[in-house]
Amino acid sequence: MPSPDAVVIDANGVDSLITSLRAQGFRVMGPVVANGAIVHREIRAAKQLPVGWHDEQEPGSYRLSHGDDGEMFGWAVGPESFKQSVFPSRSVLWRARRDGQDLAVEATGDDVAPEAFFGARPCEVAALKVLGGVLAGAASPDPVFTRRRETAFVVTVECGRPAATCFCTSMGSGPGAAADFDLALTELAGPSGRFLVRVGSERGAAVLAGVASRPATAEDHRARDEVLGHAVAAISRTLDAEAAPGLLARNLEHPRWDDVAGRCLACGNCTLVCPTCFCAAVEETTDLAGTVEETRRWDTCFDLAHSYLHGGSVRVSTRSRYRQWMTHKLSTWVDQFGNSGCVGCGRCITWCPAGIDITEECAAIAASDGAVKTSEPTAVRDR
Ligand code: SF4
Ligand code: SF4
Repeated sequence: MPSPDAVVIDANGVDSLITSLRAQGFRVMGPVVANGAIVHREIRAAKQLPVGWHDEQEPGSYRLSHGDDGEMFGWAVGPESFKQSVFPSRSVLWRARRDGQDLAVEATGDDVAPEAFFGARPCEVAALKVLGGVLAGAASPDPVFTRRRETAFVVTVECGRPAATCFCTSMGSGPGAAADFDLALTELAGPSGRFLVRVGSERGAAVLAGVASRPATAEDHRARDEVLGHAVAAISRTLDAEAAPGLLARNLEHPRWDDVAGRCLACGNCTLVCPTCFCAAVEETTDLAGTVEETRRWDTCFDLAHSYLHGGSVRVSTRSRYRQWMTHKLSTWVDQFGNSGCVGCGRCITWCPAGIDITEECAAIAASDGAVKTSEPTAVRDR
């Protein structure tokens, strides 16, 4: 039965939705074309959306093309995720000044306006939950993440055109949206500018109340099923998420780690585009006037310094750093947080300059499960 909470809006309705969110005090962050990619920026009107733009993604390759089909959401995911909004790449943790013989510590606060994540893909919404399991579920929840995630309004848009690098179907995160949104849109095929909207929260219903709509019919719901059915059929990459934790745990000395290390540049691109990677470093800077500032910035486990302990780095080789990244994503994350650290968005595949594909690496290990490296065992300093 069609849900009574579902309605249909047109392209003007999308514009009204943005206006309605702005009127309620949200800074609306939505998809726009900039620098040859679809990225998130503050938007004020639907005309800023990437209408007619499509992305073509392959390992190590991302290209945009334009058609005259008028689709607003005819693309998958770009290099940026909403991680930047809830876990900024730089944030000042505290600041202190010399005050006579004392030290005055200032609270830096985090007074940014609440944001609406407009056009977040279902895998992005899943990534926010995964990140929340790390940053908000801990004994000392991260105040920046917690505040920004709690105040954010999520308008997810289901996927009609997954990229060749997507594998959300393997990770249970897409292409349809099941939970954790305020509003969920599906761009329906046929007469252009028809969107099925499902309500996921009371405030979602309040925002939608100001937008012209009509109740969704059974035909509209069939049209949504068709969009999602095409999307599922278009996803060809797979990863056995259930088998991966055990597979990787018993293959720490597999020769494939040497093979991938021969291709990996240890650049860390995969971690920076990943919507769930949360490695961070903390830096202190001082000025001559006696002010000290402590800043947190994104870091990457591919950096030699990231595993520095007294006397040296723990993970010296690229082999051990790639293995650390992949086994954490797919195996030890499950031990720590009870779920996979990967949502199958495919960004690490597209934005890896060497075209390294996490699904291919996992499949290669599975194909010779139990193979053991025959050379010298791993040094203690390179685990
Ligand atoms: S590991 Fe790769 S596919 Fe998985 S969530 Fe991160 S970027 Fe996306
Ligand atoms: S897997 Fe690719 S993106 Fe990640 S560090 Fe290696 S070369 Fe860079």
